[in-house]
Amino acid sequence: MSDKDLKFNSKTIHGGQQPDAAYGAVMPPIYQTSTYAQTTPGGHKGFEYSRSANPTRTALENSLASIENGSYGLAFGSGLAAIDAVVKLLNPGDEVVSTNDLYGGSYRIFKQIFEKFGITFHFIGMQSIDTIESHINVNTKLIWVETPTNPMMNVIDIKGVSDLAKKHNILLAVDNTFATPYLQRPLDLGADIVMHSATKYLGGHSDVVVGALIVKDKDLADKLYFIQNASGAVCGPMDSFLTLRGIKTLHVRMQRHCENGKAIAEYLANHPKIGKVYWPGFENHANHEIAKTQMDDFGGMISFVPNGSSYDEAIQIVEKLELFTLAESLGGVESLAGHPASMTHASIPKEEREKSGVVDSLIRLSVGLEDAEDLIADLEQAIG
Ligand SMILES: *Cc1c(COP(=O)(O)O)cnc(C)c1O
Repeated sequence: MSDKDLKFNSKTIHGGQQPDAAYGAVMPPIYQTSTYAQTTPGGHKGFEYSRSANPTRTALENSLASIENGSYGLAFGSGLAAIDAVVKLLNPGDEVVSTNDLYGGSYRIFKQIFEKFGITFHFIGMQSIDTIESHINVNTKLIWVETPTNPMMNVIDIKGVSDLAKKHNILLAVDNTFATPYLQRPLDLGADIVMHSATKYLGGHSDVVVGALIVKDKDLADKLYFIQNASGAVCGPMDSFLTLRGIKTLHVRMQRHCENGKAIAEYLANHPKIGKVYWPGFENHANHEIAKTQMDDFGGMISFVPNGSSYDEAIQIVEKLELFTLAESLGGVESLAGHPASMTHASIPKEEREKSGVVDSLIRLSVGLEDAEDLIADLEQAIG
């Protein structure tokens, strides 16, 4: 049976994997080596130097390709290193269209690193295809989509953007960190590149920082592989091993993230002291119809705004939480709470932030795998 015929729940475990060639180890060993013996110059078993390739990383890269329905996976030292590699496909003078409420670090690398190399970025609301099209010109070479967006949980129509990108011959990259391939498969919807911060749900246990790119097209894979090797932001064998181990339970974890996410989103929506709750599973969510079409469920990321509350009151709530840890990041087995305005999105100027809804009192939850009743009790005591 070819890997391509496997269902998702089997791909997470077996996709792209074979027992190790040396001793039949079921989990790929951690090949903690920088180099490989050659019998004659160039006479090697497929590996010469671990920046170029390492067997543990290759096992992870094959798994990534399989779960995203791609043909090629590339693993990096962080999500941002993966993004860095994508932007390096471009040249000075090129333009990029992206969302206005994307991950703070993505905004920072675009604005503060790549603008000075002559690449222009447009940060816009991507809810309307016409709006996106109005920002496209002959120099536009890349559309960067993140969906659901962080932290506002807007959902962008991947198929719609992909049709537009194809019409104008522009690359489409989708940051699939929040949804994971358990919920949404951008390559199937026409995207050219899927990007992950595997630090989050793919790793799933808050113990690694890893990034990933997955593509279908061989030429594009070759170009990205060239950049990966030439720039060198690869992930090490130990982190590759841990991420691969995480992926093997992705489907089981995501199922519970979705169940707990739903329970908590509903609890918050019915709470008299909570104003807005942003979660794409609600029928009254602005993009619920698109979410229903392109996602299989709605995930465990939720943002909310306590009624009439201020910066300080929001901080009080996150400080009072006990089972939810106050921390950056998301997607691990443990529940986390964050205050985007002072944490993940502090690098975005206040006016920019508020334009997209990231007000001072917004709180973001990454709902983990604890018992939902315990999580609700914790929110109850913190919100009061
Ligand atoms: C965390 C994150 C990134 C950056 O990934 P790192 O692994 O932290 O470098 C990019 N996009 C999203 C949506 C993220 O949550």
